[in-house]
Amino acid sequence: MSAGALDFDRIDITDVTRQYGRRRALSRVTLSASAGDVIVLLGPNGAGKSTLLNILSSLLRPTSGAVRYGDTAAADAGDALRGRIGFLGHELFLYSDLTARENLTFAARLYRLPDPDGIVERGLVRANLADRADDRVGGFSRGMRQRLALERALLHQPRLVLLDEPFTGLDDRSADALVERIAELGRHGSIVFAATHDFDYAARIATRATVVNRGRCCELPMDGSPLLTRYRTALAVEAA
Ligand code: ADP
Ligand code: MG
Repeated sequence: MSAGALDFDRIDITDVTRQYGRRRALSRVTLSASAGDVIVLLGPNGAGKSTLLNILSSLLRPTSGAVRYGDTAAADAGDALRGRIGFLGHELFLYSDLTARENLTFAARLYRLPDPDGIVERGLVRANLADRADDRVGGFSRGMRQRLALERALLHQPRLVLLDEPFTGLDDRSADALVERIAELGRHGSIVFAATHDFDYAARIATRATVVNRGRCCELPMDGSPLLTRYRTALAVEAA
């Protein structure tokens, strides 16, 4: 894969601020992550979680501050960097008129993956959609589309995996499978950021947890006490 030339095993976010007009969505965020980290982003609606994920994807630029992927600054990287990132956003960007297999094949070609057919078949199995591979995505439930979009985001074995509310719309069995999938990504050396409102799933996947509140980030201690308790304490401290 041509884009594989750029790789990294850590990310450093330094003093990142993002304004939308006069509204400050992120305020001086500094955070680092290493291969194997699964970092959950917890915070109320409008806190800045999606903005942070969009900046990490390199699709949105910070107003000030910098993100480095290993030795490479986001601004210098372009397509080679995007070839190492997998992003599952709110919008799934699937083609409704195409089948599940066609959606994955299209992505595999864009990434110029070797053996796209094999990779697509494995993705369909992992999405638990092998028996629906030739059905059009327009007829799929939200959960089925979510599973397909996740596997599409992971087809190219990205180093950095960004998941925005990935448990939304999943039934219990699919959510359990996603927990296992995320753990496996971490074990294989990906860096995973996942924004979620679900504290149970967050606790099951997190090796680290960061509260995002009013554009600021604050890392929670991983001391074994319930995540929700630590989260509420952090918000109370900030409000005081
Ligand atoms: P979260 O994902 O935590 O719910 P967001 O990152 O989506 O929060 O939003 C953070 C803040 O930035 C909110 O106040 C939101 O209204 C604002 N915001 C997000 N995207 C845009 C945009 N494209 N234009 C203007 N304001 C935005
Ligand atoms: Mg969001």
